[in-house]
Amino acid sequence: MATMTASHLVSTVCHVNSHGADTKAANLICMKNQAAITHNGLRFLNMLDRLQMRTNGKAVARQAVKQENPRPWGKIICGKGLNLVFVGAECGPWSKTGGLGDVLGGLPPAMAANGHRVMTVSPRYDQYMDAWDTSVLVEVKVGDKIETARFFHCYKRGVDRVFVDHPMFLEKVWGKTGSKIYGPNAGVDYKDNQLRFSLLCQAALEAPKVLNLNSNRYFSGPYGEDVIFIANDWHTGLLPCYLKSMYQSRGIYMNAKVAFCIHNIAYQGRFPFSDFSVLNLPDRFKSSFDFFDGYETIDAAHAGILESDKVLTVSPYYAQELISGEDKGVELDNIIRKTGITGIVNGMDVQEWNPATDQHINVQYDASTVMDAKPILKESLQAEMGLHCDRNVPVVGFIGRLEEQKGSDVLAEAIPRFIGENCQIVILGTGKMAMEEQIENLETQYPDKARGIANFNVPLAHKIIAGSDFILIPSRFEPCGLIQLHAMRYGT
Ligand code: ADP
Repeated sequence: MATMTASHLVSTVCHVNSHGADTKAANLICMKNQAAITHNGLRFLNMLDRLQMRTNGKAVARQAVKQENPRPWGKIICGKGLNLVFVGAECGPWSKTGGLGDVLGGLPPAMAANGHRVMTVSPRYDQYMDAWDTSVLVEVKVGDKIETARFFHCYKRGVDRVFVDHPMFLEKVWGKTGSKIYGPNAGVDYKDNQLRFSLLCQAALEAPKVLNLNSNRYFSGPYGEDVIFIANDWHTGLLPCYLKSMYQSRGIYMNAKVAFCIHNIAYQGRFPFSDFSVLNLPDRFKSSFDFFDGYETIDAAHAGILESDKVLTVSPYYAQELISGEDKGVELDNIIRKTGITGIVNGMDVQEWNPATDQHINVQYDASTVMDAKPILKESLQAEMGLHCDRNVPVVGFIGRLEEQKGSDVLAEAIPRFIGENCQIVILGTGKMAMEEQIENLETQYPDKARGIANFNVPLAHKIIAGSDFILIPSRFEPCGLIQLHAMRYGT
């Protein structure tokens, strides 16, 4: 992750999808195999859901025409699906520093394929070429000012991608200053992050009501009030609070629910207690933010956990860790024990991470061609890195944020111990400046053996996953981690 900062939280929930034969025969075979039933059987049901949705969609549209409603798209057509609104500070591929961006990128299309109507709401950090100005503006109170946010939109892979446009995002990040999503440097927050994400949450609560979205063949019009918000990490901890204080108290969104997903409890959005007043919440919410750490502190994740209807995290094991004690629950263990938590194992975007179609690599492959393809991809990686091309030399890859959690310091210490062996190592990462320097120096220290690239480079990440023999994950802890999933899918 290029830009993890002190209060930013990382990544995700998941989805698994698959390709292959969706035939009745395949499902019958599955019936004989208990292990397979869950997987293929589920896919079969998903197919049915989709059919059902299409049929329902057509029926409602026909009915609307019959009733001489000239605007059938003015109706919300929702077969069996739910209206899901994912809200997050990152959304890949438009914005991503790690797994959080991956999940906001990959899970929504998988949910849409399962028959749900799905929107994501994230900041517009750059002038995204594919997202258009909806000309819809909303006014929200941020601190003591009324701010106007504008919505941009595109429709991709069955998902309404909504981007919140405001100078607090665009000017701060790529637009004018060329700096980062959460702060000017890795580990440093923007001073007004609580206000930036207050704006995101308030805009996200407006989006389902004010945006008349008609790109989806099966659904149209605004999402309306019957929605489920999936709030991700501390940046969205204010969302359930505003939902209650600004809407439900006035009879709006009465059936709406919020699921709060913890991607990495190490990032909680802690601010001085005096900042509570800039959040524009009634005093009764104070106790949800109140966090005792010996300082006068408010904690956005704390509020998100307490005020949401459901708390989720990115793996069942991490759910256990979070309630195991102060250490792994980073002092939120007691409130999570109180609310309960469900761990759903993370998944990868099987469209982005598919060796059979991956456009970032020179040779596409699958399980039947992997043995022929990998040596070619390894040589191509070696050539690109300026390493000696030899398919018989084992190549070890590392991709990730350069910081203690990911164990990049452990890795740096270990390199001298194994670099003498017949191997090469390629490291791609961004993060703490000292660690970036450390990996960039590797080339000077071990010119024939090691390369360190301190850059955020998605195509190169794909090439390393495909071209390496081994992926190294020296993490001190992983809520789930996506790298190992990518590696397994690529036969690495
Ligand atoms: P995190 O804790 O950072 O969320 P994950 O393993 O869940 O870790 O996800 C990391 C994601 O970020 C992966 O998709 C990985 O490929 C990507 N990534 C991390 N660092 C880089 C980088 N420097 N360049 C490109 N992609 C990166």
